[in-house]
Amino acid sequence: MAIDGPAGAGKSTLARRLAARLGYLYIDTGAMYRAVALWALREGIGFEDGVRLEQLALHAEIELGENRITLNGEDVSVAIRAPEIADAASRVSALPAVRRAMVRQQQRIGEAASVVMEGRDIGTVVFPQAEVKIYLDAEPRVRAERRLRDLEARGEFPALDAVERDIRLRDERDRTRADSPLMQAPDAIYFDSTGLSAQDVEEELLRIVRERTSNGKEVQR
Ligand code: C5P
Repeated sequence: MAIDGPAGAGKSTLARRLAARLGYLYIDTGAMYRAVALWALREGIGFEDGVRLEQLALHAEIELGENRITLNGEDVSVAIRAPEIADAASRVSALPAVRRAMVRQQQRIGEAASVVMEGRDIGTVVFPQAEVKIYLDAEPRVRAERRLRDLEARGEFPALDAVERDIRLRDERDRTRADSPLMQAPDAIYFDSTGLSAQDVEEELLRIVRERTSNGKEVQR
């Protein structure tokens, strides 16, 4: 199952909850691009240095656990959530060679298990044959408010306007890149979560998933 959409739409919360309800593996592909970006920043590699970034992406050992992500054996779950890493991830992810390396890993994971995978290009590029595709969206202000709450939980207190500006810039970059831009797959279900609680979105999407995976028939229990 594929969930795509812009930053702050609620993809992670929802994908995690749906995976738990369906007994599938939850895969956060953004965390993989964030891990590569973190490594690049630490190594001082410039975002224009495609050759070295490709090497880095090919050699990054990324493990996605339930609530934990490791890069080359180090727990980077907290480090990759910093705002500067979000920005760096959106820069390194624009490079086709970096994307190729990550997509290959994502396809391998998805072929070996039933997954709920979330990102920007899952329904369009990584798994165009996914059984169910959701494009999750919300108004930019609402997405900024959600992102602000995440940052506050980390002990950071930026202004809401600044958060909104950052996610608009990142979305613009993700939507306009040449390789695998953020867009809704033609066969994806568009879902706007503005004004809905995570619980409401979960129940509604679970209903849709069950309808789809049982061909519209009621599942006999
Ligand atoms: O989902 P998250 O906000 O953590 O993703 C960080 C960045 O990684 C995104 O802004 C996007 O540039 C990139 N990304 C991507 N393709 C994915 C997932 C994330 O390009 N499938």
